[in-house]
Amino acid sequence: MTSAQRATATGGYHHRHLLGIEGLTAPEILFLLDLSDSYVDVNRATDKKRDLLFGRTVINLFFENSTRTRTSFELAAKRLGADVINMSIAWSSIKKGETLIDTAMTLNAMHPDVLVVRHPDSGAVQLLSEKVNCAVINGGDGSHEHPTQALLDAMTIRRRLGRLEGLQVAICGDITHSRVARSNIHLLTTLGARVRLIAPPTLMPSKVERMGVETFHDMRKGLEGCDIVMMLRLQTERMQGSYVPSTREYYRFFGLDQDKLQAAKPNALIMHPGPMNRGVEIDSDLADDINRSVIREQVEMGVAVRMACLDTLNRNLMAERLAEGQAAQ
Ligand code: ASP
Repeated sequence: MTSAQRATATGGYHHRHLLGIEGLTAPEILFLLDLSDSYVDVNRATDKKRDLLFGRTVINLFFENSTRTRTSFELAAKRLGADVINMSIAWSSIKKGETLIDTAMTLNAMHPDVLVVRHPDSGAVQLLSEKVNCAVINGGDGSHEHPTQALLDAMTIRRRLGRLEGLQVAICGDITHSRVARSNIHLLTTLGARVRLIAPPTLMPSKVERMGVETFHDMRKGLEGCDIVMMLRLQTERMQGSYVPSTREYYRFFGLDQDKLQAAKPNALIMHPGPMNRGVEIDSDLADDINRSVIREQVEMGVAVRMACLDTLNRNLMAERLAEGQAAQ
């Protein structure tokens, strides 16, 4: 880690949006992680309500299915006192032929303060952010980025192992279609962890080593000595044609079971962003093993991370509006 990366996270996060992890500095990421930590106790308390976002409107705009991410953002915003509207594709005008930009302009006219957007196309959330006056959080765009997932994963690891720097993290499965993998690679390498990708050749992006990772097609070799085993779902909804011979065959070579896990460190932690395909990428008993699996903690950390992101972007937006108001006087 460089000295800049070792700097404490006092510098803050001064962007209007959170569109991805790529391009963020280590202090910016650490700032968000530290603030997220402070929200864990708020969520565990009986009285969870804060008023930092009182009077603000948060719109969850989801063009793709989601259970945990949408719920997590909704809870986070409500616990901070915001008014929350959920718009899913089934209700949206997109089905009636309205374009993404038209939808953005329509919503913008309703003066939201934060838009949380999930979209099946990579880059769509960035495009939308350029057309609105509010803050935008990327809730997952195609196979591009899912920044709050990477933050919650980092937080889960850091709280369990006390650090990220120097850890060996294996990300296994459908790397090609995974925004979770991309955001995690950016975050983990920025904070000094070493990342290995394990996948069949059909699910490994070409030239991915340029991102500073090692690649493996043999799961046992890839897992050797790893501290963290992060499993990914086969994203069949993003596949055109067949990328694996059969799910049975896939499980045999790339599914995490007791036998393959032996290759990792004896106390290696198991992670999965969900939703899980039990018996396809992960053995069901391992997923539920309270000594190894931190999958439930990931879900818990998700709410704290999203509170920290909403809190930060709201502060930035208020500062921006204040400065604009003063400039206009
Ligand atoms: N929930 C994660 C995502 O939205 C992972 C997945 O769907 O497999 O990318």
